[in-house]
Amino acid sequence: MAKYTNADCRQCRREGCKLFLKGERCLTKCSFDKRPVVPGQHGTARKKISEYGLQLREKQKVRKTYGMLEKQFRLYYEKAVRSKESTGFALLKMLELRLDNVVYRLGLGMSRAEARQIVNHGHITVNGKKVNIPSYQVKVGDVIAVKENKANLEMFKNLKDIKVNTPKWLEMNNETLTGKVLALPERDDIDLNIKEHLIVEFYSR
Ligand code: SF4
Repeated sequence: MAKYTNADCRQCRREGCKLFLKGERCLTKCSFDKRPVVPGQHGTARKKISEYGLQLREKQKVRKTYGMLEKQFRLYYEKAVRSKESTGFALLKMLELRLDNVVYRLGLGMSRAEARQIVNHGHITVNGKKVNIPSYQVKVGDVIAVKENKANLEMFKNLKDIKVNTPKWLEMNNETLTGKVLALPERDDIDLNIKEHLIVEFYSR
């Protein structure tokens, strides 16, 4: 029988939820749907998880969802602490406003990893200028587009026929492969099952 497990899918099983790391496969052939247990020999055994364990797993879940290394993620947290908003929301907002995440949310990449590659390869412009920094923070009013001379690449060709549910703080025109940041994301716009207070508790220990 075919198996669809691999390193990315193990991350989902480890965190006990779908992290959507593999684009279309996550919607069609998800191994977590078939086997939602922790990887390893004792994956099916129920273990009591400590308060620390809960905090750690929540932090890891969000870090992996956005494809961050620990050092990078911690820097975001430290910036969030200095924000006037609640630390947990400020952290999530900064992650959502990363250019690679926005490219993913606009449907230009099937996963955040693919979106990051698209940005890295210089296929994206912000307000008409090439930006190849995935961590670039977009602002309200920014126009994010596929570079004109890249629109014929195979990966973008079919997008005109695909309807993506963009969050309400973003707008996408599939004909011109252009998106716009209409507003800053609200907490309800971040459609991930995240308990950000656990992340704050983890780092505040
Ligand atoms: Fe693999 Fe995606 Fe399913 Fe996660 S959500 S287990 S990455 S297919």
